[in-house]
Amino acid sequence: MSFTLAPLPYSHDALEPHIDATTMQIHHGKHHQAYVDNLNKAIAGTPHENKSLEELVANAGSISPAVRNNGGGHWNHTFFWESLAPNAGGAPTGALADAINQAFGSFDGLKEKMNNAGMTRFGSGWAWLIKGADGKLSVTSTPNQDNPLMDVAEVKGTPILGVDVWEHAYYLKYQNRRAEYLNAFWNVVNWNKVASRL
Ligand code: MN
Repeated sequence: MSFTLAPLPYSHDALEPHIDATTMQIHHGKHHQAYVDNLNKAIAGTPHENKSLEELVANAGSISPAVRNNGGGHWNHTFFWESLAPNAGGAPTGALADAINQAFGSFDGLKEKMNNAGMTRFGSGWAWLIKGADGKLSVTSTPNQDNPLMDVAEVKGTPILGVDVWEHAYYLKYQNRRAEYLNAFWNVVNWNKVASRL
């Protein structure tokens, strides 16, 4: 079995002006494609060939760095594209809003926590909103292409929203201004999708 790159669920320019079309073309078509291609190369002819992506990610601590990094890259980016949508943003509602208010005091409290997690992730990685085993929401971050589903994660949980803070996610439009990118990200969050993951 080999993994394939799904098309984006919207056009490359659909998230303008918050995330620009050129960034989306390169991020999805080059970076994400490379994770898929390198994952397929790394598992070819190994017992990992017949495992699901979820299985590989859950056992990140006992697989090769190539499978961990590229498998994580494939999982994380697939999750990220689905977390975004054109004409989205605004504020979460219903049970999701209740859970956010309970955990962070308010939606602004969540934004502050997640922006801070993204800003303080040195180098490359991700900031996540996760649901813990106790059902409570919290914010965490992971380096490189790790994620909170991995056995090696410092803080484990089920991601319901994530933001890519690798420079390749924002450099063309925002250069070194990661904070501006993180603020813009909130304008394209697909809250219906996030709520469905809760
Ligand atoms: Mn990326």
